[in-house]
Amino acid sequence: MKELKNIVVLGVGESGVSAARLALAQGYEVFVSDAGRGVERFVGELDEAGIAYELGGHSEAKIFGATEVIKSPGIPDHVPLIVALRERGILVISEIEFAARFAPRGCKIVGITGSNGKTTTTLLTHHLLAFAGVKALAGGNLGDSFARLLLDFPPQDVYVLELSSFQLDGIVEFRPDIAVVLNITPDHLDRYDYSLEKYADSKLSIAQSQRIDDRLLVLADPTTLAPALRRQDPKSQISTIRPEDVSGKSVLVDGYSFELASGQLRGKHNDLNALFAIRIALELGVNEQEIQLALDSFVPAPHRMEIIPTTDGRTWINDSKATNVDATYFALEAMDGPTVWIAGGTDKGNDYDVLLPLVKDKIHTLICMGKDNEKLKETFAGVIPEILECHGAQSAVVFAGHRAGKKDNVLLSPCCASFDLFKNYVDRGDQFRAAVQKLHA
Ligand code: ADP
Repeated sequence: MKELKNIVVLGVGESGVSAARLALAQGYEVFVSDAGRGVERFVGELDEAGIAYELGGHSEAKIFGATEVIKSPGIPDHVPLIVALRERGILVISEIEFAARFAPRGCKIVGITGSNGKTTTTLLTHHLLAFAGVKALAGGNLGDSFARLLLDFPPQDVYVLELSSFQLDGIVEFRPDIAVVLNITPDHLDRYDYSLEKYADSKLSIAQSQRIDDRLLVLADPTTLAPALRRQDPKSQISTIRPEDVSGKSVLVDGYSFELASGQLRGKHNDLNALFAIRIALELGVNEQEIQLALDSFVPAPHRMEIIPTTDGRTWINDSKATNVDATYFALEAMDGPTVWIAGGTDKGNDYDVLLPLVKDKIHTLICMGKDNEKLKETFAGVIPEILECHGAQSAVVFAGHRAGKKDNVLLSPCCASFDLFKNYVDRGDQFRAAVQKLHA
């Protein structure tokens, strides 16, 4: 007979290890298995906690003996081990589903998903709450996992969680008090049989266990989100956020106009993110004046339309986190004058055509920074007066320094993943920032 409380965790990373520790603390028997080598710092944490684990392979007999399996978000659903577990009727869940069972009684959970803007909106929401003195923490897909927030911090009144679709794919009864779907544009489709509908359904599953007294905030989007809402038919109270409620640098919420001009958030996409965050804060009882003050003092996370301070009169912008077409669209839209654009990297099956009108209007030089730049060159040849190629952040910045006029913008918004030339988007953005600083030293 199986042990009653016997949990296997697949994957030694932030969410896997904290889920394992939480399970141990809750009296479960825990075993952790990673087919790779795991992340070093988290292996150490397992040792410290005295949790049994294996690396470099999966002991199937042991894993099939679990009553429940917590799967890390990086493991796709179609790998044979996961398929076999499900065939045996073993519940495979995400760390979010598991952790939520142990959230403090009476706390509020805000779950934020979407293709772009999750991190910004999660951090801004947390800032609006914390500024007003609400006891709140942010985490999930950014920073500390939900399990770690529950384990290593005192109980909170509000948890603001950034949630990826991979985390949502493993939820069953997870029920956020406020669920947010910021937008849905093509990304990660390789994990969803190349179906935008399946991807949208995964995002909207955030609301699958909500009830009538819960809130669901979604972008007004007749093409992707509205049909997904019809398919899923959530039971919560739905509010739609309309881009028309952003006008200039102010946003109108329930008849109150919030000014965004004095804050550091740039671009229409960030105005929309702010609109969502304001709605959440109002919903949780923060008053308008406090929200306005907090908006003015919010410092956005790096690598997202981050302005690198220089004294040369030009505006150097690090938007390394823009790894898809939609994010870059909003970055280009935010450019208020002639711009040198640095783009390229690992193409995720991008269709760049939607960028053409903005590019025609604003970009005089494209610097392609990737191993294979053919698609970018093909799309923009004849549209952008000058296209250059380089193979690193340093040379991209030197080229940009030569080509940018006295008051131009230089925008790194790659539209692509970074893995061809960099460790990740952080490494790419850090190298870009360092090169800009060196140029101005
Ligand atoms: P995520 O956590 O969903 O990746 P981030 O806040 O880290 O979102 O932003 C990722 C990229 O998307 C950045 O380049 C940012 O400028 C851009 N972005 C942010 N919000 C939006 C939005 N609402 N729509 C489109 N792009 C956005």
